[in-house]
Amino acid sequence: MASISNCTCDVLVVGTGPAGLVAALAMAQAGLDTIAVGPYVDPARDTRTTALFTGSVALLRNLGLGARLEPALVPMTGLRLIEDTGGIWRAPEVLFRADELGLREFGINIDNAALNTALLAATRGQAGLRLIEGTVTPDFQSDNNGSTLRLGSGATISARLIVGADGRGSLCRREAGIDAHTSSYPQSAVATRFRHTRPHTNISSEFHRPAGPVTTVPLTGLESSLVWVETPDEARRLMGLDDNAFIRTLDDRLQGLLGTVTAIGPRASFPLTRMSADRLGARRIALIGEAAHVIPPIGAQGLNLGLRDIATLVELVTRARSLGADIGAETVLTAYDAERRGDITIRSAMVDTLNRSLISDFLPLHLVRGAGLHALNTLPWLRRLVMREGLHPSGRVPALMRT
Ligand SMILES: Cc1cc2nc3c(=O)[nH]c(=O)nc-3n(C[C@H](O)[C@H](O)[C@H](O)COP(=O)(O)OP(=O)(O)OC[C@H]3O[C@@H](n4cnc5c(N)ncnc54)[C@H](O)[C@@H]3O)c2cc1C
Repeated sequence: MASISNCTCDVLVVGTGPAGLVAALAMAQAGLDTIAVGPYVDPARDTRTTALFTGSVALLRNLGLGARLEPALVPMTGLRLIEDTGGIWRAPEVLFRADELGLREFGINIDNAALNTALLAATRGQAGLRLIEGTVTPDFQSDNNGSTLRLGSGATISARLIVGADGRGSLCRREAGIDAHTSSYPQSAVATRFRHTRPHTNISSEFHRPAGPVTTVPLTGLESSLVWVETPDEARRLMGLDDNAFIRTLDDRLQGLLGTVTAIGPRASFPLTRMSADRLGARRIALIGEAAHVIPPIGAQGLNLGLRDIATLVELVTRARSLGADIGAETVLTAYDAERRGDITIRSAMVDTLNRSLISDFLPLHLVRGAGLHALNTLPWLRRLVMREGLHPSGRVPALMRT
């Protein structure tokens, strides 16, 4: 990344996490003079993996990332739900298969390190995009012509549109004067990867347990990633176990589904929270990714939602530009908010409801969930409907997400 003195651009992206880097690439490829600012983070530091659905994969390929990413993409052809609540009535196992929808796969799983490395390399070589190492400081100055932001180095950048991709504690959100609703759950997620003796056959499995879901997602060969949601005390205990003790505990938890666990990767733990910004844009600032919404890591929704934010925003901004309009105008930000609000609200509510239906002591809720799983098992049309909606919200698919 370079350092700069004062400069101007069409679009300034604040934050160079996955959402910020993808947004910067997409804006630059749409012909907008773009700058992205963020602190350097070693891509290999993130040991998690990310499951991305077909629309998200299409977006990455449409941005020219296919060749860089291909070797790291592991297809997910099925999703298995296993009721493991220990309740009086055990609902049947449900298996969703991509071929029921005429698809080869639901999406892919990828190492975050591989994704972030590919994104950094692509943004560094992208014409019309300057990548600047640094952080943006408070007190943005905005008027009819644009916004001016100051970096920690003292340099200033002026832009017509600011894309706030600066994560859950977003400074951009505060500078836009946008409030957010935040709630936390009495749960933490332990994320890691592990090797096992039985093939996963490219199926992701989700055990529904009273403390929260335990999810395995296929990686290359006899390896899977794991997101294990637990009470904070139990998550702390799991984090504190030595590798052998963790392997034994995981073996018990997976009940032989993937054979025997033979090795475990580095572990990291994340408290479960939910956040939703009241608006997605104001004062020349459009919020994307976790600056706009945080969802518990259940059902692989977080970055998938963030990528849909980007595809929608790029479309609205390029349309405004083609009409000779101001790309940072309130009309653009209002249209962006209107297009994205429903999807974000529905996904967030779905994950919240599933999670709360597991951790609740309220028996009727468990019966309803069990009946739902039973219906999914016996009604192919319902299964197909749920699969389609899970992959992408019904309605218009932004051009960047079409195959
Ligand atoms: C265990 C776990 C598993 C997950 N699995 C999946 C999955 O399978 N599928 C999926 O879709 N999602 C998944 N997610 C969610 C996904 O990881 C997030 O949605 C995604 O990482 C958010 O990316 P982001 O770029 O919006 O935010 P971040 O990655 O938080 O990036 C924000 C960036 O902004 C920078 N920044 C902050 N302030 C400033 C400033 N003032 N100036 C400049 N830069 C700044 C930060 O340094 C950071 O680099 C998972 C999450 C967890 C915790």
